[in-house]
Amino acid sequence: MHLNMRFQNGKAKALTLSYDDGVIHDKRLIDILNRYGLKATFNLNSGIFGQGNIVKGKDRGRMKLDEAKNVYINSGHEIASHTYTHPFITDLRYNDMLYEVLEDKKCLEKEFGCIVKGYAAPYGCCSDELDGILRSIGIVYQRTVDETLCMELPQNWMRLQGTCHHNNPKLMELARSLAKWQPNHTDKCRMFYVWGHSYEFDENDNWNVIENFAKYIGGRDDIWYAANIEIYEYVQAFKNLHTDTMNKIIYNSSALSVWFEKNRKLYEVKSGETIYLE
Ligand SMILES: [Zn+2]
Repeated sequence: MHLNMRFQNGKAKALTLSYDDGVIHDKRLIDILNRYGLKATFNLNSGIFGQGNIVKGKDRGRMKLDEAKNVYINSGHEIASHTYTHPFITDLRYNDMLYEVLEDKKCLEKEFGCIVKGYAAPYGCCSDELDGILRSIGIVYQRTVDETLCMELPQNWMRLQGTCHHNNPKLMELARSLAKWQPNHTDKCRMFYVWGHSYEFDENDNWNVIENFAKYIGGRDDIWYAANIEIYEYVQAFKNLHTDTMNKIIYNSSALSVWFEKNRKLYEVKSGETIYLE
């Protein structure tokens, strides 16, 4: 009998968000997310902090480095890479691609004091060659700009697709479907993944979209609110459980507690623990 993964504390639902470019509007977004207990990943370009960008009379300006440090450090949200200068990266030569991702990772780690393992693709530009570079420097997932309208966990973390952009008219319908879903023992975990740019709320004058969404979906006991990397690392910890052939002896060598169901029963195996099932 196989082990059916459950998230932290046996939950079957996760919600994560991903916002790009490190713009000034992230401050307001983080205030909203924090009010309702949601967690996000912020994808930053460390080579162009402080650059203003006026589009249709509205400022898409990027935060200055000091401002960004104040906003993101100790915010509880993840900092991930989005290249050094936001180019159409797959048009670049190999060594220029390498520079864009490695320099960004290095600068973000130095300035923000964290290990950067996530990456969002500017303009959604992906290639097998770039995947190889990302893997070689320690990036473990790559978010694209796709919308699946699904909540399945990704098969390929180097093509991590969102459930929807926050402007998708189905946003609240999807939120309601997740809230109402009553998982049975054999159902797989679901991950609701929302992405966008916080300047879009200003440009479209629709901050109410994220406020209403966060208010509705936040604060629920059966949803795990997590940054992208937390979900990735949890899934790896589950996959890396050591088991005997019959799945009766389970050893967790990871640093995380792991939950799963087997034969309609929920189990937790703590970090470093071995459990023996019936
Ligand atoms: Zn971007």
